[in-house]
Amino acid sequence: MTIIAELKYNLTPVERGYQNRTLYINLSTNEIKIKPVSEEMKKLFTGGKGFDLWLMWNGLPKRSVKWNEPENEICIASGPLGGTTYYSGSGKSICTTISPLTNQPIDSNVGGYFGPYLKFSGFDALEIQGKATKEVLIFINSDDGKITIEDAEEFSDQAHLLTQELTKKYSTDESDREKFRVSVVSSGQAAKYTKWGVLNFSWYNKKRQWASYKQAGRGGVGTVFKDKKLKAIICRSPRVNQTINNPADIERGKEAGKDHNLEIIKNDPLQNEMRVVGTAHLPEIMNDFDLLPTENFRYGAHKTLKGEKFPYTREIWRNIYTDVGQGVDGCWIACQISCSHFVQQHTVLTGPYKGQKVIVDGPEYETIAGCGSNWGVWDPKWVLEVNFYCDTYGLDTISVGTGIAFVMECYEAGILNENITGGLELKFGNAEAAMNLIHQMAQNKGFGVIVGQGIVSMKKTFAQKYGADPQFLQDIGMEHKGLEFSEYVTKESLAQQGGYGFTLKGPQHDEAWLIFEDMVRNNLPTFEDKAEALAWFPFWRTWFSLNGLCKLPWNDVIPPDNNENPQKPLTLPNARAKIPKHVQWYAEYFSGVTGFASTPEDLVKMSERVYNFQRIFNIRQGKGLKEHDSKLPYRAMGPVTKEEYESRLERYDDQLKDLVGIDPEGKTTEEKMAILRSFREEQYSKLQDAVYNRRGWTTKGCPSIKKVKELNLDIQEVIDVISPHQ
Ligand code: SF4
Repeated sequence: MTIIAELKYNLTPVERGYQNRTLYINLSTNEIKIKPVSEEMKKLFTGGKGFDLWLMWNGLPKRSVKWNEPENEICIASGPLGGTTYYSGSGKSICTTISPLTNQPIDSNVGGYFGPYLKFSGFDALEIQGKATKEVLIFINSDDGKITIEDAEEFSDQAHLLTQELTKKYSTDESDREKFRVSVVSSGQAAKYTKWGVLNFSWYNKKRQWASYKQAGRGGVGTVFKDKKLKAIICRSPRVNQTINNPADIERGKEAGKDHNLEIIKNDPLQNEMRVVGTAHLPEIMNDFDLLPTENFRYGAHKTLKGEKFPYTREIWRNIYTDVGQGVDGCWIACQISCSHFVQQHTVLTGPYKGQKVIVDGPEYETIAGCGSNWGVWDPKWVLEVNFYCDTYGLDTISVGTGIAFVMECYEAGILNENITGGLELKFGNAEAAMNLIHQMAQNKGFGVIVGQGIVSMKKTFAQKYGADPQFLQDIGMEHKGLEFSEYVTKESLAQQGGYGFTLKGPQHDEAWLIFEDMVRNNLPTFEDKAEALAWFPFWRTWFSLNGLCKLPWNDVIPPDNNENPQKPLTLPNARAKIPKHVQWYAEYFSGVTGFASTPEDLVKMSERVYNFQRIFNIRQGKGLKEHDSKLPYRAMGPVTKEEYESRLERYDDQLKDLVGIDPEGKTTEEKMAILRSFREEQYSKLQDAVYNRRGWTTKGCPSIKKVKELNLDIQEVIDVISPHQ
C-alpha cells in the first residue's frame, strides 16, 4: 500500500462528550492538520451538524461555492452524546457538504459506527477539502495514533464488496472482536456519474459476521465524495465501554437512559414493532390513510388492495427479514429499538450479479414506497433488488424512487417513448425497465445518464429536446430546491406542505413530519398552530443532529400516558407529538454527559441557533429566501390531472363547498381544479408568512438582525449576509 501522506498524533481521552479538536485533510495538497475546538464553538454550535456547518462556513470561500469546486468540503461529525451505550439511538454521524442537487448545504443523519469511532479516535469532526488526482483512502488509526492518505485504486468500486474488503484489511486480525473496531465510509460506482450518490457507513455485526451499512442518503454527498476521488474513509477505534465519553455525571444520564430503554422494551411490541420489522410497518398504515406515494404521488394508496391483501403489509416483511426476533440489528451499540433489518439470501434478478445470492441491508419504508408503490411496483422481490443495487452502486433510493416515478409518468403521458429511452418501456409497474435504468447509471450509459442528473435537469432536457410542456413538468416533477421529495403524499396536509416547502435542505421529512397531527388528528386547525409546529418541530428535530443521536427513540415509541403529561412550555396543540417526558429525559441526558445544566427550552434554543445559521449559509449560497421556499410542485398541494381529481371526486367537491364556499354543481372538472388550485396556493402563501413571523424572520424569509442577536450569532460576516434582506 502506497502511503501518500501521514500525520502522527496523541490519542487523548474524551472529556464530557468532546475531544475538543477536529481533523482537517486537504486532498489537493495532502495537508493533514488538527484544529482546536473552542469553548465558544461548543456553546454556539453544540456539535454534530453545528460543528460541520461552522467548519464549512469558515473553510469555504465567502461566496456561493459550487459542489464540484475543490474548495467544497465534506464534514462528518458525531456530537457530545454520540457513542453513549446506555441510551438508545446514540451512535449517529452527521454528514454535510454543498449538494450537487441544491447547491446549498445538505446534511444527512446516518447510522453505522463511524461518527462515534472518529470521536473515540481523537476528533469531534472530520473536514475534507480539495481533490486528489487519483483514487485515495483515508485511514484514521487510533492504535498507532496515525492518520494516513493512501493509494486506493486496487479496491473494488461496489460497496457490498469494498466494505467487507476494507473491514478485513484494516482490522488487526480476522477475529470478530477486532473487525468490530473498524468502520468504513464509502460510496459506489454510480455516485461517480449521477447526482444521487450516497455514502455507506458501516458497522461490523458479530452475530451476522458481516459489515452492514446505513446510508447518508440525501442530496448527493456520495457524488462529492467520488468527485474528490475518495474511495473510502476507515477508522479503527479504541474499544468502546460505558465511560468512554467520560461524562460529567454518568448516573444522571444513565437514569434517563434506563427509563427510556425500559419504556421502549415495554411499548414497542404493543405499538409498531420496530424491533421486528423496523420502518417497514409504515407502508400499510400510509396505504390505509391514503398517504402512500403511488404512481409518482398521483395517488395515496393501491387502487384496490387494502388490509391483509395489501402487498407490503407488516406481516409480509416479517416473513421476508432474516433476523426477525433476533434483535441483533441496531445501527449503534445497545439501541433497544434495533430497527435495522436484513435479508440474508436474496437471489439477484438482473445485472452483473444476476443469479448470485446476496445480503440486502433493509429495505426500509422509504425504499419500499419510493421504488415500490411510487413506481406502481407491488412485489417485494423487486424492492429487495433495487435496495441491493442502489446500496452497492452508491445511489439514494429516495431520489432514485421519486426520479424514476417522474420518468414513468412522463413516459405514460407520451413525453418519452422507446426511441428516447433506448428501448426501455418505462411504464408504471415495469420494475425490470427501472432496474435497467439503474444499471445504466452505474455504467454511465444510455438514458440512465440523463435520469441520474436529477429531476431539475430532466425537466430542462424534456422541455428543450422533447417538446414537453414546462408547466406540466413543473407540476408533476416532485423536486423542490433541486432535491427529490421523500415518500409522503402531502396533498391533504397544508402543514406538511410547509414541512417540505420551508425546509433548509429541500423536501425531506426529517425537519417536520406533521401529516398525522394535521390531517389525521386535526391538532393544528389554525395558521398559528401550523406556524408554531413549523417552528418548534424543525428546531427540536435539529437537536438530534447536533448531538449524534437518532430521532426514532424520541417519538416512534410513544408512552401510553403521553396525553396526560403536558409540561410547559410543551403544551397543546402538539403535546402528544412532542412527548414532553422524553424531551425532559434528553435534557437530563445532555446535562449528565456535558455538565452544561440544560432544560428542555435550552435544548430547543441550541437547535434554533444552528437552524438559523444554516438558513443564513443558504443565503450566502444564493438561496434561502422566500422565493426559494415558494414554487412547490403543485402535485404536492393538490390534484394536477383530471384523473387525479376524479379519483377523489367526493373529497374535492366537498372541500370546494366547505372550505372555498363554491358550489361544484354544474362545473367541469377543469373548472373545479382551477378553483381548488387557486385556493390551495393562497393557503400555502399565507402559511409561509405566518411561519416566517413565528420564526422571527423578515417577510423575505431571512432571519432578522434582532433574531440573530438574540441567538448570539451577530458576528460581522453573518450580519453582512443578512443585511440586504431585512
Ligand atoms: S432506532 Fe434504528 S436507526 Fe435509530 S439508532 Fe436504533 S437501530 Fe439505528
